[in-house]
Amino acid sequence: MPYAYDTQNVFARILRGEIPCDKVLETEHSLAFRDIAPQAPHHVLVIPKGAYVNYDHFALEATDAEIADYTRAIGRVCEMLDIRPGADGDGYRLISNAGEVAVQEVPHLHIHILGGRPLGRMLQKAAG
Ligand code: AMP
Repeated sequence: MPYAYDTQNVFARILRGEIPCDKVLETEHSLAFRDIAPQAPHHVLVIPKGAYVNYDHFALEATDAEIADYTRAIGRVCEMLDIRPGADGDGYRLISNAGEVAVQEVPHLHIHILGGRPLGRMLQKAAG
């Protein structure tokens, strides 16, 4: 186990029902809810129910069932939000921050789904 999982992180507390969330979708292995500080008209976080710190932890150690469920959950949220480009919307961006350089604030894997406005380029150039 390469990562120590902090069982007191805010998403672990949401999963235990200790604090509320604005739920969008719940499946056997995944939960999707609206970000508390949305950065776009659509800003949903999708998390696995298992204790995974970030994406590589999940991708390397989760079961096939967890990975399939999580991937489908992300697709279903895009469908529910009507943001699929060419299908029913204008597109979206998926972001998953991991570790210090990406400024990951919550140490439980989450994928941000952002949409509903032009999102600009993927990264800004570093200053200097
Ligand atoms: P990151 O920097 O990728 O770790 O992003 C963490 C995200 O979690 C931020 O966008 C926060 O606004 C969001 N967040 C923190 N606490 C909550 C909460 N209780 N409910 C929903 N979103 C939250």
